[in-house]
Amino acid sequence: MEIILAEEYGFCFGVERAVEMVEKALTDGETVRTFGPLIHNQQEMERLGKEGVKTINELQEIAPNETVVIRAHGVPPQVEAELRAKALKVVDATCPFVTRVQRLAARAAAQDRHVVVVGNPEHPEMIGVKGYAPNHAFIVRDASEVANLPKLKKPLVVSQTTIKAQTFFEAVEAVKARTDDEVEVINTICSATRDRQDAARELAEKAEAVYIIGGKHSSNSRKLLAVCKEKCEKSFLIETEEEINPEDLKGIKRVGVTAGASTPNWLIEKVIQRLKEIGEQLEKQ
Ligand code: SF4
Repeated sequence: MEIILAEEYGFCFGVERAVEMVEKALTDGETVRTFGPLIHNQQEMERLGKEGVKTINELQEIAPNETVVIRAHGVPPQVEAELRAKALKVVDATCPFVTRVQRLAARAAAQDRHVVVVGNPEHPEMIGVKGYAPNHAFIVRDASEVANLPKLKKPLVVSQTTIKAQTFFEAVEAVKARTDDEVEVINTICSATRDRQDAARELAEKAEAVYIIGGKHSSNSRKLLAVCKEKCEKSFLIETEEEINPEDLKGIKRVGVTAGASTPNWLIEKVIQRLKEIGEQLEKQ
């Protein structure tokens, strides 16, 4: 049984960078706390937990001897200032793609222009970006919400890094239709999610069964499952190698493997190892 991997899978650049920054702080002997869960993967959080990393959700939980890590989503500048005042050290693991959105929003606000950000207003990334353009930023989920905005002043339109391109462009058109002022449009969607989906689709076309490794509640992993199912009926979303049922692999010559953006390499390697073992067992039968 041949095992093939997707061209793009697993940790995106920003998540990998954040985990490496946590590892570095641990190696330096620091007491590490992440402000909110670092990633949405239970197994990786448990692994980091064993190394002493704890998640805190409130500023009051910080002790003065602790290192606090800002996760890839970023935080509003006011929150960052409070973290810096309370913790011994702050490690800023905000993804550079998110920092770019924050800077663009801050620049437009400094010019007294409005900023329309297309995204989910409850998402931590959006809460952070809004903080960079106080009284100037509006978060809209899609084009339909643009109608609720007040009169816009020379608006800048940007996007949450993980939204669908179509949602962004529809919202841009709605903003343009709503104002006579000049509209500046900067597409700040990160390609990591789309690249993983494109690669998963290609993989599913070539394989007779596909395993997607990721949290059952991780939205990007579930999307990968949906994409794979379109091309390959035998597509399974698993969190660990223990969930692989050898029965599903009987008669399969080519099995594909991909993983969500929060799935660490060590979990992926365990799945590949298990698939190799099953393949060898099936050959002997
Ligand atoms: S999905 Fe993109 S923007 Fe978000 S953390 Fe990963 S690389 Fe950064």
